[in-house]
Amino acid sequence: MKTVEIFGGTLLCDIEATEQAYVGHESYAVTCPCIPCKNYLAVREKYFPRNAIEALGQLGIDFKRDIEVYHMAKVEGLHVYGVWFYFVGGISKEPAYQDSIAFLEGGKWLPPSFQNKPLVTVDMQLRLPWEIALEEPRQ
Ligand SMILES: [Zn+2]
Repeated sequence: MKTVEIFGGTLLCDIEATEQAYVGHESYAVTCPCIPCKNYLAVREKYFPRNAIEALGQLGIDFKRDIEVYHMAKVEGLHVYGVWFYFVGGISKEPAYQDSIAFLEGGKWLPPSFQNKPLVTVDMQLRLPWEIALEEPRQ
């Protein structure tokens, strides 16, 4: 287990086990047929916060291998998405509260390679523009 200091907290991460669990795991957004996921895929490369990509990378997580993506709302012209990732490990000291990223022990929906492992859910909220020609949700 590696100790990762993040947002004032301390996380324990088994990077090897995390990377192993993601092998063969396809991004949820890639497999989901809904229109908001198609937009997510079109814009994530450009707008995913760089510091979040870095934070996820420290935990052995590739930001393109999301576990779950869902559209929450349209706020001030941008679309709020919930995006989850998992890593194998635990929370030693709770990171400071951030409105765009939370760490929770356990996981709700487990792809096979994540089952029977101690997991932490990284629960993110991203505000993203709409950049595809398909119908944009009004709210
Ligand atoms: Zn979807």
